[in-house]
Amino acid sequence: MKQSILIVDDQKANLVALEATLSELDNVEVISATSGPEALSILLKQTVAMVLLDVQMPGMDGFEVASYMRQRSKTRHIPIIFLTAINKEDGYMFKGYESGGVDFLFKPFDPFVLLSKVRIFLELDGRQQKLEEALSKLKQVKTSNEVLLRSVGEGIIGVCLKGTITFVNPAAEMILGMHSSALIGQPLYKAVIVSTHQAEQSGWDHTKLYKACSEGKAYHTDVGVFRSYHNKMLPVEYTASPTHSPSGHFDGAVIVFKDITERKKIEEKLHFMAQYDALTELGNRNLFNSALNNSITYSDHSSQSFALLFMDLDRFKQVNDSMGHDAGDELLKEVAARVNHCIRDTDILCRLGGDEFTVIINGDQAEKASVRVSEKLIQSLSQPFEIFGQELYVGASIGIVYYPEMGKDASELIRNADMAMYQAKHEGRNRYRVFEPDMKTQVEESMALEVELRRAVENMDFMLHYQPKFDMRTRRIVGAEALLRWQVGGKMISPAVFIPLAEETGLINNIGRWVFETAACQVKAWSEQYDLPDGFRISVNMSVQQLQDFELVNLMSTYLSSINVNPELLEIEITESLFLEQTEVNLSNLAGIRELGAGIALDDFGTGYSSMGYLAQLPLTVLKIDKTFVDNVHKPQGSAIISAVVALAKGLGVDVIAEGVEQEEQSKRLIELGCVTAQGFYFGKPVPFDEIESLMDSQMLRIDQALNGTENS
Ligand code: C2E
Ligand code: CA
Ligand code: CA
Repeated sequence: MKQSILIVDDQKANLVALEATLSELDNVEVISATSGPEALSILLKQTVAMVLLDVQMPGMDGFEVASYMRQRSKTRHIPIIFLTAINKEDGYMFKGYESGGVDFLFKPFDPFVLLSKVRIFLELDGRQQKLEEALSKLKQVKTSNEVLLRSVGEGIIGVCLKGTITFVNPAAEMILGMHSSALIGQPLYKAVIVSTHQAEQSGWDHTKLYKACSEGKAYHTDVGVFRSYHNKMLPVEYTASPTHSPSGHFDGAVIVFKDITERKKIEEKLHFMAQYDALTELGNRNLFNSALNNSITYSDHSSQSFALLFMDLDRFKQVNDSMGHDAGDELLKEVAARVNHCIRDTDILCRLGGDEFTVIINGDQAEKASVRVSEKLIQSLSQPFEIFGQELYVGASIGIVYYPEMGKDASELIRNADMAMYQAKHEGRNRYRVFEPDMKTQVEESMALEVELRRAVENMDFMLHYQPKFDMRTRRIVGAEALLRWQVGGKMISPAVFIPLAEETGLINNIGRWVFETAACQVKAWSEQYDLPDGFRISVNMSVQQLQDFELVNLMSTYLSSINVNPELLEIEITESLFLEQTEVNLSNLAGIRELGAGIALDDFGTGYSSMGYLAQLPLTVLKIDKTFVDNVHKPQGSAIISAVVALAKGLGVDVIAEGVEQEEQSKRLIELGCVTAQGFYFGKPVPFDEIESLMDSQMLRIDQALNGTENS
């Protein structure tokens, strides 16, 4: 038989989308309504199996529609699934359940989840209908027509006034696994119905069933237990109705029942779905909320504290954006498995949605355990993941709070854990932080900074400083690195602070483009003013996000030709970062940049995780030895590393430069080891362009002077 689903949403587009999804179901008719009143009037006329109800509608909202439905007997039992876009806070959900909803779906919804929920409710509805049909047939036959009784799919047992079984239909024999001959003549309560009630055990006329029937009423229960073959307990739903003799006297009862093992399973599944996340099979937000409240209650009674960890993946968005949602889902499953590996059975791990996970750690050592678990998690999640044959680096940031010190209730704990997590992200990700009261100010400060940064980006309120690069043997300038400078209220903000913020907020693409264009103009001006030495380049730092832009090479090349500057005067510096893995976009952009003629330097070399195979694949022109190695150049190990990098560069056919040279000693040693180019405070700090010009004035031929003769000197 066809079942109908009513879908209610004020947005036509949503209705169309829902209809399309539901069209996958067989034997289902979809009826739609665009407002609460329209839905109610349809419900008066038609029988529907379930309602998918939008919550936010003008006029009468979904909750109101639901409570009207609950007031009418015809619509009271129709399952309602609320559709909502807005937040999933407890109070809101509660309001929904209270108004009669059985479930929630959050927009934009996953068609898979939608369909599986709908299927379950339809199945329940189908069973309900069958039962009702059976009951109405039963009423018609009034127990006398055995032929009909034999054909009904539900189990039916008839008893006489004394409670002795007089009739068993074939379905009942099947369900109970017993032949009617073994049942007929037996007392109903001994042979079939299992009761734990003291009173019921003391006699047939003390049973609720008998009492109801003797008063002419039906007795119904959906938590009944029957004894079946080999004394096996069977969960059943049954209704007992009184039967009457032809003269109208109460003369027994008929029990219609069905095996609800399957339904129990479905109910368990529903319960599971309400509490668990389908993707990772971890607990969801509902489960998390109740687990957190349980921990609080337990802690209040036992005065034992517990820890709550808030974890967010560091590069989930990039994976999702660059490789698609399927890859994102795979990654989340793999993350869930790794996290499960780092915690004990007694810890409660949930996924709140997206890439947000929580762990509740109970027990008297909760504080120590939380730190240990966090360390393990960070270690484990910074190992590469293999998703669809591709190696990915992800990492996680974790915030920790302890109850009761760091929050008096669930919402304060969550807020503070979130804040500690945000702080961990802010300090460079891939780390954990325990909440501290002054984090609030820090987080507020960085939020304020974000506002300032957005404002600065509007007018490109930035400056570039240039740090000269030298040939240490001749002390002549061979290039410069452009470094971004930003002042807020006269105070210089370090790029180490605002660049990560710009990356997080996506502002980096615009800023980076400005940096590149400004540096390109500058090097063009210098190329016109000076007789620059061969190989002179200005280098520009580029974030990984920029490399993920499909348009990058196009934009660069268009700009360079528009101002007519030779790309060979430019170089980009990319960091040997964890995420600089070989996505197609990254690699093709790097290849494109090389094709233009610009150089590519691998910055902070030695601090990342590059493998040899990986290095060989990148179209590099320079390896930039990180300052930490330069700092140790006087030690045997330090100089060994530098020699190795020099040899490696030679093997790859690329140049090598040392950065962060602060002392003459370091410079000498580097030259001995074969690294002759350097930048660092010892040679020159990053300075505005005109200071670089004075340096070049003293070192290079000024073309304008050469052309105009030497009247100024
Ligand atoms: P980086 O690319 O490794 O830049 C070198 C940093 O080391 C600069 O810091 C520079 O001032 C500093 N430095 C140079 N010589 C010495 C030295 O002898 N001793 C010491 N202690 N430090 C030295 P800065 O300018 O604060 O930049 C920090 C980081 O910010 C840069 O590290 C780079 O990763 C990022 N950054 C700067 N400008 C940009 C930009 O335009 N775009 C992007 N994406 N990142 C940028
Ligand atoms: Ca750099
Ligand atoms: Ca560097």
